[in-house]
Amino acid sequence: MSNIFSLTFRSSAFIIQFLDYWNTRTDLRQLFNQQQLPDLPPPISGDKNLGKNSPISLNLCPICGHKRTNATALTSSGYVFCYSCIHSYLIKNNRCPITGFPSKLEQLVRIFS
Ligand SMILES: [Zn+2]
Repeated sequence: MSNIFSLTFRSSAFIIQFLDYWNTRTDLRQLFNQQQLPDLPPPISGDKNLGKNSPISLNLCPICGHKRTNATALTSSGYVFCYSCIHSYLIKNNRCPITGFPSKLEQLVRIFS
């Protein structure tokens, strides 16, 4: 008798998990079928003096405007700076100089290329 109960219980649990998986899979398929990714949100309140005069390019630091030395990414925004520039900026301001997102020194990541 206990075997029948155990088998019924396990079968029911399997069916419930399968239905949950199937519904989740359908939601993910709908998500990936979207043709266009959502637009990036605008910067919150970046430093007005940065980014306008110094172009944000692949090789230039948005803070000093020179070729980046010890390229370092700020993970809160994804922008890349010189390590010394962004380190000094974060100590004083605790936010990304471009987007204004709150940021900490722990969010700096060295980029090796
Ligand atoms: Zn710099």
